[in-house]
Amino acid sequence: MADKIKEAARHTRHNEGLIFEKSAPGKRGFELPPSDVPAVDMRAALGSDYARRDIEGFPEVSEIEVIRHFTRLSTWNYAIDLGMYPLGSCTMKYNPRVNEHIARFDGLATEHPYQPQQLAQGCLKILFTLQKCLLEITGMDAATLQPAAGAQGELTGLLLIRAHLESRGNPRKKVLVPDSAHGTNPATAVIAGYEVENIRSDARGQIDLERLKNIVNDDVAALMVTNPSTLGTFEPRIAEVADLLHARGAQLYMDGANMNALAGVIQPGRFGVDVMHLNLHKTFSTPHGGGGPGAGPVLVKSHLEPFLPVPVLTEKNGQLALEPVRPKSIGRLRAFGGNFGVLVRALAYTLAYGPGIRQATEDAVLNANYIRRNLEGVFDLPYASPSMHEVVFSDNRQKKNGVNTMDIAKRLIDYGFHPYTTAFPLIVPGAMMIEPTESESKEECDLFIDAMRSIAEEAATQPDLVTTAPHSTRVGRLDEVAAARKPLLRWKSKAASESAG
Ligand SMILES: *Cc1c(COP(=O)(O)O)cnc(C)c1O
Repeated sequence: MADKIKEAARHTRHNEGLIFEKSAPGKRGFELPPSDVPAVDMRAALGSDYARRDIEGFPEVSEIEVIRHFTRLSTWNYAIDLGMYPLGSCTMKYNPRVNEHIARFDGLATEHPYQPQQLAQGCLKILFTLQKCLLEITGMDAATLQPAAGAQGELTGLLLIRAHLESRGNPRKKVLVPDSAHGTNPATAVIAGYEVENIRSDARGQIDLERLKNIVNDDVAALMVTNPSTLGTFEPRIAEVADLLHARGAQLYMDGANMNALAGVIQPGRFGVDVMHLNLHKTFSTPHGGGGPGAGPVLVKSHLEPFLPVPVLTEKNGQLALEPVRPKSIGRLRAFGGNFGVLVRALAYTLAYGPGIRQATEDAVLNANYIRRNLEGVFDLPYASPSMHEVVFSDNRQKKNGVNTMDIAKRLIDYGFHPYTTAFPLIVPGAMMIEPTESESKEECDLFIDAMRSIAEEAATQPDLVTTAPHSTRVGRLDEVAAARKPLLRWKSKAASESAG
């Protein structure tokens, strides 16, 4: 009987192909009225270089085929609207719909960046107010909203440090990066023209101050610290680290992508940070994971302000303006003022919470520690330092039965959850990095804990079940190496792939 039902499941809903494969000549998804204006020869009007003759293999499909194709595909995906998305470091939280609604307001969504500034005072006020809020949350002195992502914020920050040091006569050579930092940090330092020196964490997973004392010299431009680190733990001696750097003329950069563990509780500006970035698409209400857009505002202390990217948002006599020229600026990071829609969402979110943002932070920390407490003893906890907004276990115990972090993550899919972050941070072999975020209820956290405990049990009693997971998805284990090394990114018509051999 079960087999028969399987046989019956051959509807394309169960095996959706590519939209190209549904194509048939002459099918169309629209019907335009006959033209009542003279036809224009585009090729003659634009010059032939600009006009495409044909789009090879362009799918010709009906409206219902388009709708069904993409709706079916959407049901294959996991989403925050379906359940918890405990992907550590990424902060995949639920973002209130009202912020989406506000970002789509007519007067906001349809504004144009070339609009005269006297007619765009409302939009500029949104940016200005957001800057003020972020300065209050971080305890810093000045801001730029331009960077489009966390990594671009890091680049901005390091270019500011370089410009500042250069203005004092020597940009210096090295940037120090603890091994518990996010992977973008060393990459950023290299792109900003610095050599990276890795510093090993101590047994608690924290910056080793004694070691640091021996490393900081006149070649060091800055230390980039992810705080809380990718272990989900706070650097308790951060103020001493800042003093040590400052005494040698170096700067402290803080990767603040994890600000959802600190917002409303502590201001980094008060523990010696010179420059930091935030990820609005993590902490401040822009859904992410689909590749953007995002925003990575950079906040600085006053000594770095003269170098901020242009245009700089200023207020004079009640008028806001984007100041295009500043003699010491590092220049433009991207077109216009930043990803405006993301900035609108962040302001809506921040104003809605007000001081309640502290509660969001405390809930994020509470959820992570609730999960930690309930899974301690089942999974290995390599660093015992107190957890903030995420907790990092390892697969150390399950490995004895041949089950690793990837297997457990894949099995989680069968239990209805998105996997946690696997094999990161790198200082934990077989890492299982879990970030529930503040948006999850106790009930959802309990379901997740049950699932993880149940998988640990399976790993002990029937490891094959776990190592061959997932079992409930449309496709099983994908060949991730082949997907990375030999990706097929473009569909080719049969004729084209045959002629290419
Ligand atoms: C996500 C993240 C980044 C990078 O941010 P992007 O917006 O993806 O460029 C940097 N640092 C930390 C700690 C992060 O979690």
